[in-house]
Amino acid sequence: MPELPEVETLRRSLIEPLVGRSLGDVTIHRGDLREPVDSTGLQSLAERRILALRRRAKYLLIDLSGEQTLAIHLGMSGQLTLVDRNTPKAKHEHLSVAVGEQRLRFVDPRRFGLVLALRSNDLSTDPHFAHLGLEPLTAEFDGDYLRARARGRRGPVKSFIMDAGIVVGVGNIYASEALYHAGIHPSRGVHRIATTRWNRLGRAIQRVLSEAIDRGGTTFSDFVDGYGRSGGNQPDLAVYGRSGEPCPGCSETIRRRVQGGRSTFYCPKCQR
Ligand SMILES: [Zn+2]
Repeated sequence: MPELPEVETLRRSLIEPLVGRSLGDVTIHRGDLREPVDSTGLQSLAERRILALRRRAKYLLIDLSGEQTLAIHLGMSGQLTLVDRNTPKAKHEHLSVAVGEQRLRFVDPRRFGLVLALRSNDLSTDPHFAHLGLEPLTAEFDGDYLRARARGRRGPVKSFIMDAGIVVGVGNIYASEALYHAGIHPSRGVHRIATTRWNRLGRAIQRVLSEAIDRGGTTFSDFVDGYGRSGGNQPDLAVYGRSGEPCPGCSETIRRRVQGGRSTFYCPKCQR
């Protein structure tokens, strides 16, 4: 499943070919994605100029002239790629938008993705975005923020950092990895974490996400960037998916447990 680093990699790959150009015709083959595609809304985006590409959580935001934003979420299996305009329609291609001699096409076998035409000024109050917590790769996000948000709460720290209302984009893989690097046991209650450990966790979350972006996204999914290129390197993960293997720090055997319905990997010696 594409996570924050994959969407950020996609965004960066599309800035150069898209910004400054204008959208052409919108073609919709199939509109029953996670939410029905608003055909009229999307058609109204034709002829608008692309001003900027942004990301909020796992949404790619394509800001257009006339205060419109095309928001795309890849869901479980979505791919957004730029191809020659006369490239035959791909299997599971649900819609595409012409951009000069090319077209930006959305392919999504499982159809959990979203393609939304929104007013740019309404993004912060739109129900897809209104509830979202901080972006992790910003100056405002740090250990103090996490500690403040944890005040008065209980429950395991792993669920806390995966709560999009607290911080966006910390998926299962990155939560396991960040907790390992911070030396915090995934089941530890948020009311039992000291300030220095919150600070370490804030930095660890930023580090694992930044490193994944530097690698060009992971290779877990069918992720490809805007040119159809897959993730750069094999993921360099310390604990995730490595149960039974030695911990890179202390050689203790890495364990797996199911927590909140998701697999969690940790070193019982390094993480307390
Ligand atoms: Zn260890």
